[in-house]
Amino acid sequence: MPSLLANAGVGHTPIVELTGLRPYLGTRIRLFAKLEWFNPGGSIKDRACWRMIEEAERRLELTPGKTLLDATSGNTGIAYAWIGAAKGYKVSLCVPASINPVRRRILEAFDAELILTDPLDGSDGAIVEARRRFAAEPLRYCYPDQYSNPDNWKAHYDGTGPEIWDQTEGRVTHFVAGLGTSGTFMGVGRRLRELRGDIRLVSVEPDSPFHGLEGLKHMETAIVPAIFDPKLADERLTVSTEEAQEQVRRLARESGILAGVSSGANLLAALRVADALLGRGEEGTIVTVFPDSGERYLGERFWTEGKAP
Ligand code: PMP
Repeated sequence: MPSLLANAGVGHTPIVELTGLRPYLGTRIRLFAKLEWFNPGGSIKDRACWRMIEEAERRLELTPGKTLLDATSGNTGIAYAWIGAAKGYKVSLCVPASINPVRRRILEAFDAELILTDPLDGSDGAIVEARRRFAAEPLRYCYPDQYSNPDNWKAHYDGTGPEIWDQTEGRVTHFVAGLGTSGTFMGVGRRLRELRGDIRLVSVEPDSPFHGLEGLKHMETAIVPAIFDPKLADERLTVSTEEAQEQVRRLARESGILAGVSSGANLLAALRVADALLGRGEEGTIVTVFPDSGERYLGERFWTEGKAP
């Protein structure tokens, strides 16, 4: 019998206040980050995958003997892989062959099957391959399709959003998050807008199609996720890979927080929102998410850039 976990410890992640990054932070302008690597699989994607799998089971789309199939550049795959192992399902993942080697080893540890796609086609190439396989053998697979599955954003609508509201005691005025599948932004954004009509929702994207912001999409040139509604955002900010990496280095050295690269992108955008508030003499409570930990990126060179050899 596979070990069935009741709730598996997904969600209810800690939130921390960041004060050291600007001299003015911590009083009239406050900045909080939710540390999503405290999820069991080490990233925010545990939330969406847990919800999509539980709902697929409830609808009898995922039954014993079926294989879980999806396209993912990393964290979603890790979430499927550990949940599949815990619940006793085989997992097949379409991933660009350029996948970060640390993530690849984690997927292999959970015994997931990897279907490698052309790195030049990026995450879109992996999506095309997953669709092709599902179309060829629909009875073999359960294909949650995180880009089109409403359970993705609902995990954040029912989980991440209310957690942010409670952890800030209803004080949140701005929410800032990067767009990958857009599940985090859509789910948290919709919930917070219901709780507080004047919430400002700020989305974050890479500034170019070829970027190193793992997990984020350049919407203008990517396959736009079906769950994405561009009308939800009040403001759309863009960040370069180098700027995000710089923030990641600073977070580690100056705040003692080892975060992943998309966290650096989210942080930079949140600091821009904070600076703009300061410039207008306004106050506010800004919340962002740190989707995964810097441990998944330790092989990258940027950690030592700017340091004497
Ligand atoms: N950052 C990282 C590291 C991710 O893996 C993801 C998921 N693709 C995101 C950000 C974006 O999250 P979402 O898919 O909910 O938009």
